[in-house]
Amino acid sequence: MPLSTRMSLCAMFALMDNHTSSSSERSDFIRDIVAADLRDGRVDSVVTRFPPEPNGYLHIGHAKAICLNFGIASEFGGRCHLRFDDTNPVKEEQEYIDAIEKDVRWLGFDWGEHLHFTSDYFEQLYEWAVHLISEGKAYVDDLSAEEIREYRGTLTEPGKASPWRDRPAQENLDLFKRMRAGEFPNGSRVLRARIDMASGNINFRDPVLYRILHAAHPRTGDAWCIYPSYDFAHGQSDAIEGITHSICTLEFQDHRPLYDWFIENLPVPSTPHQYEFARLNITHTVLSKRVLLRLVKEGHVRGWDDPRMPTLSGIRRLGFPAEGMRDFAAMIGIARSDSVVEIQMLEYAVRQVLNRTAQRRFGVLNPVKVVIENYPEGQVEEMETVNNPEDPSAGTRLVPFSRELWIERDDFMEDPPKKFFRMAPGREVRLRSAYFVTCNEVVKDADGEVIELRCTYDPETRGGSSPDGRKVKATLHWVSAAHAVPAEVRLYDHLFTDPNPGSDGRDLFEGLNPDSETVLPTCYVEPSLADIPAGETVQFERLGYFCVDPDSTSDSLVFNRTLTLKDAWVKVQAQGKQNSA
Ligand code: ATP
Ligand code: MG
Repeated sequence: MPLSTRMSLCAMFALMDNHTSSSSERSDFIRDIVAADLRDGRVDSVVTRFPPEPNGYLHIGHAKAICLNFGIASEFGGRCHLRFDDTNPVKEEQEYIDAIEKDVRWLGFDWGEHLHFTSDYFEQLYEWAVHLISEGKAYVDDLSAEEIREYRGTLTEPGKASPWRDRPAQENLDLFKRMRAGEFPNGSRVLRARIDMASGNINFRDPVLYRILHAAHPRTGDAWCIYPSYDFAHGQSDAIEGITHSICTLEFQDHRPLYDWFIENLPVPSTPHQYEFARLNITHTVLSKRVLLRLVKEGHVRGWDDPRMPTLSGIRRLGFPAEGMRDFAAMIGIARSDSVVEIQMLEYAVRQVLNRTAQRRFGVLNPVKVVIENYPEGQVEEMETVNNPEDPSAGTRLVPFSRELWIERDDFMEDPPKKFFRMAPGREVRLRSAYFVTCNEVVKDADGEVIELRCTYDPETRGGSSPDGRKVKATLHWVSAAHAVPAEVRLYDHLFTDPNPGSDGRDLFEGLNPDSETVLPTCYVEPSLADIPAGETVQFERLGYFCVDPDSTSDSLVFNRTLTLKDAWVKVQAQGKQNSA
């Protein structure tokens, strides 16, 4: 894949400032074309489509195309179809169809009655192929795939005509019927358009319209053993559905003259037009179903919906909200030339949403025991705690406090360096929403590992502030040991260490991050999380956002770390500003 320039940091910064504008003010070259077509009466209403091939799960790149097609339809009062481009039964499966429908809905879009399948048009497409044959514009070719490739020529050499190119129409019709009837084996013959073997555009050198494939189709079963090519099916399907603006990615630009040729040379019911935009590329990942399928098949991940996968089901399982994905699509906009977007920009968009919406909770990932020696044994107090400081309407909750607690092992140091302000022997710190505590004694096991911190608390500091105005420099999160709910927490990092996996001729899979998943089997979370449903995301205070994994069972919770709290994007931005100053 030829990747051009990395989008400059300043350009992205400018985009980010823009993205706050509402969707109705959104503008790009495709929206400009649509607006002009409506204004000048070239179309009465806009009809777009999102046309996935059901040969894998949708990824973040598809989300860009979905937001564009469904977004335009809704902004301009038109409609958008979901059309499965199901012309290759060897690679397509019902599982993928179901997953794609679920993902488009999750992203927040609805195709209404307009769920379509290219396979619904197989009979009509066949008739149009017969039409081209009758007009002398298509022929059955007996050359092998290999020979066809050879004869096609190159960018600098013209192609060579097949010896079957001038077959009489009657013979072509007969052979094409027998292809359909199943008389010939796979690969023995194809139907080709008869256009121009010397054209400067290789797509015009008698493109293949039909190939023989004796394979059961997920929807049409054994009804067909010849299947149309993408080029022959796509534009005609658009015409059947009355699509006005057929929006696709740049690699189809050279196919556009062929798209138009079919529309001009067939008695189609409408005349759609194709427009191309730049596909999305993101650092530290790969947006290609072929590669993603390999990751799944070779067992590098837990499946298509692994939280590290850039699939929509993967980012959903990781805890990215659909709104964050849509905001990201708006931030990056639509351009005519390829670029690579920093993954931190997507993470920024997601943090913006989660900061606003995720409830705060206490969770301890790497626990060490604290015993408060002067706190009465058996006593439990319910401490009132704010659910989301960004959203007063989220209210408060009560968190039980008792004599034995878990705190984060990293929040204690026996010999703290100068800038470490958290718990240390003889030092007072605040337990969030509870009390000031002071560590008096460190208990270790035979190996010298800290196993317990003996502390005292000041009963005058209930709620976390001192009546005498005494200050502490650190506030720690905690979970009452007697009330804690055990949980497994899975920490995730980028799937590829390499920002541009597979570039410079390196093997793609060499760039896989060996530490992309770290499983912490023994964590403790506050009791209010005991019944949290799978798919919900909370913020563990001071640690990050965590989403409940569907692997959770009634007696064992599993959380995926969606993101840490640190915003790498803000850092990236600051560097960009500095560099341009
Ligand atoms: P892949 O290369 O991952 O297999 P594809 O283009 O073959 O993707 P399709 O199912 O044919 O997958 O894609 C459906 C639509 O999504 C097409 O219109 C395609 O142009 C668009 N699309 C695919 N990948 C991207 C991307 N990275 N950025 C933007 N749009 C994309
Ligand atoms: Mg494709």
